[in-house]
Amino acid sequence: MIVEVRAVAPFYKNGFLVACERTREAVIIDPGDEVDQLLGAIRDYDVEVQSILLTHAHVDHVSGVAAAKEAFDVPIYLHRDDQFLYDAAVQQGAMFGFKIRQPPPVDVHYDGAVAFGDYEARVHHTPGHCPGGVCLQVGREGENGQMLFVGDTLFAGSIGRTDLPGGDYAVLMRAITEVLFPLGDDAIVHPGHGPDTTIGRERSTNPFVLEYLTRRT
Ligand SMILES: [Zn+2]
Ligand SMILES: [Zn+2]
Repeated sequence: MIVEVRAVAPFYKNGFLVACERTREAVIIDPGDEVDQLLGAIRDYDVEVQSILLTHAHVDHVSGVAAAKEAFDVPIYLHRDDQFLYDAAVQQGAMFGFKIRQPPPVDVHYDGAVAFGDYEARVHHTPGHCPGGVCLQVGREGENGQMLFVGDTLFAGSIGRTDLPGGDYAVLMRAITEVLFPLGDDAIVHPGHGPDTTIGRERSTNPFVLEYLTRRT
């Protein structure tokens, strides 16, 4: 599996290229302001993008969708519960003081796994940071993928904020501990911001998780 990450100022939001090394079929995840760097990686690897997969619809995760759609004309996937945020992308940008183009319409609301080459992305609903957040579990078709693209649900040593529209702390903590953790301690977590981590490391050292788990017992 080819996994490339790019991030640029001001949000340093991670955009990913994930491709099958055999068939060269690829997906891009959360194209934002770093979309030009992702397009460069796509040329360098000579892969063929088949879909644009979104972990959620906050503006930093969708500001490059228009450019990606123009470059490849492939379907855009989003969870239906984040459609209202996607529709308000321009207003979200204005809230942060940025001008962005309204991204083109979503083509597919997630309904099952998305295949590319020998791989597939299984979709797990992980609300709490926003209503339609998902974790994309990527691995060989039919196997339990060990690459998790979690958006802003979980970070190395931190968790997603829950003070934006539709955010909910209790819902977020349930998504982390009841949806993400069962995917396995060895699974590699690719957050929407910052460095990679693993489920095992976050389960045993993440202060927000530890506090939540102690309070519940
Ligand atoms: Zn977000
Ligand atoms: Zn973000």
